[in-house]
Amino acid sequence: MTTPELTSSITVLSGVGEKRAAAFSRLGIVTLADLLSHYPRAYENRENCKKIIELSHEETVSVRGVVSSSVKTNIIRKNLRVSTVKVSDGTGFLEMVWFNNRFIENRLKKGETYVFYGKVQLTPKKQMHTPIFERPEEQKQLGRIMPIYPLTEGITASILTDCVARALDACRGQIKESLPAALRNAFKLCEINFALENIHFPANEEAYRIARRRLAFEELFLFQTALFSLKKRQNSSHAPRLSADMQPFLNSLPFTPTGAQRRVMDEIGRDVSNSNMMNRLICGDVGSGKTVVAAAAVYMAVKSGFQVAFMAPTEILAAQHYNTLQKLFAPHNITVELLSGSLPARQKRETLARIQDGTTHLVVGTHALLSDDVAFNKLGLAVTDEQHRFGVEQRRLLTDKGENPHVLVMSATPIPRTLALIIYGDLDVSVIDELPPGRQKIDTFAVGESYRKRIYDFLKKEISQGRQAYIVCPLVEESDVTELQSVTAYIKKLEQSGFPAASIGILHGKLKGAEKDAVMSAFKEGRLSLLVATTVIEVGVDVPNATIMLIENAERFGLSQLHQLRGRVGRGSHKSYCILLSQSSQNAAMARLSVMKKESDGFKIAEEDLKQRGPGEFFGTRQHGLPAFRIASLYTDMALLEQTTKAARDFLNQRFPCSDVEKKLITEKIDALFNNHVTIN
Ligand code: ADP
Ligand code: MG
Repeated sequence: MTTPELTSSITVLSGVGEKRAAAFSRLGIVTLADLLSHYPRAYENRENCKKIIELSHEETVSVRGVVSSSVKTNIIRKNLRVSTVKVSDGTGFLEMVWFNNRFIENRLKKGETYVFYGKVQLTPKKQMHTPIFERPEEQKQLGRIMPIYPLTEGITASILTDCVARALDACRGQIKESLPAALRNAFKLCEINFALENIHFPANEEAYRIARRRLAFEELFLFQTALFSLKKRQNSSHAPRLSADMQPFLNSLPFTPTGAQRRVMDEIGRDVSNSNMMNRLICGDVGSGKTVVAAAAVYMAVKSGFQVAFMAPTEILAAQHYNTLQKLFAPHNITVELLSGSLPARQKRETLARIQDGTTHLVVGTHALLSDDVAFNKLGLAVTDEQHRFGVEQRRLLTDKGENPHVLVMSATPIPRTLALIIYGDLDVSVIDELPPGRQKIDTFAVGESYRKRIYDFLKKEISQGRQAYIVCPLVEESDVTELQSVTAYIKKLEQSGFPAASIGILHGKLKGAEKDAVMSAFKEGRLSLLVATTVIEVGVDVPNATIMLIENAERFGLSQLHQLRGRVGRGSHKSYCILLSQSSQNAAMARLSVMKKESDGFKIAEEDLKQRGPGEFFGTRQHGLPAFRIASLYTDMALLEQTTKAARDFLNQRFPCSDVEKKLITEKIDALFNNHVTIN
């Protein structure tokens, strides 16, 4: 075979036909490059042989010895043939055992030496069951560190291992280096052929570490370079100059902004009053008052003659922002509209027309705003709330509706800086690190099932004093497989415990927009005292009279999510409580929840959450535009991340001498990355 290109289909490998290629494609493997970047998920160290005398019960090891008997086969019953052979290595004897294997007799020769690999039994007999074996001089699978791959139906471990080995053989030494030499030298990164060879078949542990570091570095480096270059491009884009004074707006507020709010407003003011495009993230804990800061920016944009799009992740939240903003802007002659997915066709048409002709200054909505039929007259600012639910790509869809509008992003998930750097590498970050005055600490308890009656009594007492409560359950419908509380079944339980049916509202993701709104307004207006909900209430809902947040199956939630939920109470003048009810009696679960009792700072909780669960879990699955890294881990590669951040900055600032070819390779890789990795939900 002539040297194949990495872009060649895997069918160039012998033994890979149409059918097998189809199975491979289920693993996302189409080309040789895909195959070589299908990295092992783990390894099995078959390097060292042990002496028979040293073996322990149930360990999986390699043993090198001489076959000292011929293969004996006993037919125990109709479907059970047991073949055995004795092996000696000078320190003792070990019996090798296979079941229903007709080929053993022909493959093992008495008097010859083999390496066997398998699990050892010391009792009742000293045996190794169904070992694999090879002659020492032709070892392929033994005597080395073997990769363990993610598999799929039709692709067994040995098929995959074989194909990777053949692909590596075919390309050996020919794979083109993808990182500039100067960069590799500066960061001591090994060459690509070595890296690929040793990530699949490490020569030893040291070689594996060197290979892995290079590949993880490359992955993080490319992603960060992509984001930073996006940021650079945006920052140099010509954007509308929003020079209106925000003071009249500040004067009309029912409260004085906190120092942190003022600081962030000033940062925004500076951004938008020159003609470079703003790309700013406002990061602040729940209740830190992000909305009014964004509103100040909206005010500047509208008073400078531009329209604003304000995007929220849920209908409930969009509706709430709409109400808040409408009130804030009532004294200022700013027209606000809600573009909801549930608008009747005619009304929607009219709304769209008013957006298009510029009559509407501010449009609040869900991702319905991204739809093709939404056209602006003069979009100058795009605000998105709870951005971690949208991806980089969606942010772009929104800004494409204007000519380089400024971008403001609000995140209520206090993200540790290291992670913000990755996810929001294309944004400048402002932190609101101060809560408005007068906020009380929310008393938090983590308890078990035995407290249920006491909790219900407490709820009744608060309700009788005019307060309201949230109860959060993880699921909507009753499920046979888990014992999670389901909302509907839960209601019955509440009624049986003496809560009047008429006072209970239900809110979950399967309700239609209008139904949700109806329930939410009833709760807001105090017509309902209990709101049983799934995590749809997690984001931003504001009912100051609600004082209790009871979370069922709290052990199921991440700490950051619990913190978000807890932030739904303590928004008014009344003392508030958060009760974490755990059905798990495990100490670990309770210990985790107890973090919530002492910690009220969202950033610290996020830090802790990340430590405990890692970033994948932290953000939920794929909701967030986080890249699906193949080898790098945002959890364990934090140190590497610091280096790649520097490398990406230096590379973009041309601190590494690079040939045009080297530059082009990086650009191509970045394009591929953005097409493949930045998810749109
Ligand atoms: P979040 O940052 O969680 O989005 P909001 O913007 O919803 O917080 O603000 C939470 C509540 O605090 C709102 O009711 C808002 O009116 C109020 N608020 C915001 N800033 C201040 C302030 N400086 N002083 C008093 N109340 C404030
Ligand atoms: Mg908010």
